[in-house]
Amino acid sequence: MSRIAYVNGRYIAHRAARVHIEDRGYQFADGIYEVVAVRRGHLVDEGPHLDRLDRSLGEMRMAAPMGRAALRHAMREVIRRNRVADGIVYLQVTRGVAPRGHAFPKGAAPALVITAKRLAPNYAQMEKGIAIVTLPDIRWKRRDIKTVNLTANVLAKQQALDAGAYDAWLVDEAGMVNEGTASNAWIVTRAKELVTHAPDHSILNGITRLAVKRLAETKGYRFVERPFSKSEALAAEEAFVTGTTSWVTPVVAIDGKPIGGGTAGPLTRALQRLYEAHADEP
Ligand code: PMP
Repeated sequence: MSRIAYVNGRYIAHRAARVHIEDRGYQFADGIYEVVAVRRGHLVDEGPHLDRLDRSLGEMRMAAPMGRAALRHAMREVIRRNRVADGIVYLQVTRGVAPRGHAFPKGAAPALVITAKRLAPNYAQMEKGIAIVTLPDIRWKRRDIKTVNLTANVLAKQQALDAGAYDAWLVDEAGMVNEGTASNAWIVTRAKELVTHAPDHSILNGITRLAVKRLAETKGYRFVERPFSKSEALAAEEAFVTGTTSWVTPVVAIDGKPIGGGTAGPLTRALQRLYEAHADEP
């Protein structure tokens, strides 16, 4: 079966899908995106993802390419045409195509691309956990906007892989952990407190993070939003990451030091089960 992509109003073969060389996403990373999980045919947390898309557009002072109902329809159509039951749908909006120049172009229409692909949840990794390394966070100061400028994330991910880890936690100049390269970072302290960074400009407010926060609160777990330091992380009882493709994945080593004896902890396991049940809800 050949893949189909949505590009500016047309459904075309994925291999033939193109954008212009003067698309501002290509030239300036002047665009934003979303990734939504598809679980047994339904979109997980679609509303919150589209709310965040609107927020990113607003912060970038970009127009929406279409209304929400049309967008929901196009996403479903891409999912249907690609026969995705379990996977992801990717949505990207750029400021459009215009002769190169930093100023916002007059009259350029936003460009919209939607793709979908099959992707099974990585149960083996969720079981075993991942090793991460800590690296300096060299990104810009508006990480709350989900822009397609992922240069620093790309460099950090590759540096982590080269070091034999799976990902990096990005640490600010004061030694506080912001987040992973494509996930939010959490720890469980010795006092059994669930800690993750508050949603300010230094992190992306993950939709999975929001779901896990709500699930933890519903269960009455002790939850605090505050920055935690790299040394606090190294001394944590448990650690994990949350993200659209990683769900709740245990972190079992940080900078080569085992966390929680090198296996997933009980609170992480409980949150994994809760999140999986949440993702299963139609
Ligand atoms: N932080 C960053 C930098 C990310 O790229 C992602 C993945 N989009 C996340 C956090 C997690 O966000 P979400 O749960 O919405 O996937």
